[in-house]
Amino acid sequence: MTTQANPTDSYITASGKELTFTFFAHSTMAIDFDGRRIYNDPVAGFLGDIESLPAADAMLIGHHHYDHMEVEAVEALRGESCTILCDVTTASMLPEGWATALRPGDTAKLGDIEVTTLPAYNSSEGRTDFHPQSRGDLGWLLNIDGLRIYIAGDGEPTPEMLALRDIDIAFLPVNQPYTMTEEQASEVLHAIHPRVFYPYHYGQVEHRTDLELLRRLTSDIEGMEMRIRPME
Ligand code: ZN
Ligand code: ZN
Repeated sequence: MTTQANPTDSYITASGKELTFTFFAHSTMAIDFDGRRIYNDPVAGFLGDIESLPAADAMLIGHHHYDHMEVEAVEALRGESCTILCDVTTASMLPEGWATALRPGDTAKLGDIEVTTLPAYNSSEGRTDFHPQSRGDLGWLLNIDGLRIYIAGDGEPTPEMLALRDIDIAFLPVNQPYTMTEEQASEVLHAIHPRVFYPYHYGQVEHRTDLELLRRLTSDIEGMEMRIRPME
């Protein structure tokens, strides 16, 4: 796989700078902004030829599941003076000193990028073992030069998530039984009303997400565009 094969989407931030997402698979993606590269959820199998990829200036890792975090991928992408922000479980799996462990509700800075963490967990009976609230898995709210990006992590709707406002771009997990149903994702989107919505996690599981149902359920959200990228 070559890096050119990975689709990208670009946005213009408040002061007119370009921000580009590169989508690999699932929630594994890169954000390029102002000469810096941030990887979200580095997984080697999704990233393809890692040696050909630019090194990371920063990484965001919301939880330790194999489809979100691989120590080998972190090691391969870790550039000089790379900042790794992650949940406490992931931090405990990485060599001492590599990462900064954050708890839900913490804030951090990546240069001029403001980072706020939100809790990510399952709330439905019978599903809480998938992503227990007590573990401290994370979602991310990024403010990159005025562009507000929400990456939910794995889990179901939470009060913190539903209270979000002024989101430009939202990434939500939609798959059964581990994260949101189509209806739950729709509930979140009706509450937070992002300009752009990317579902992820929508394939590669026993029950493939019904993207057409998701589109129908959210079609009344004025001004929101649902973008399907290879994030299954
Ligand atoms: Zn996952
Ligand atoms: Zn997970």
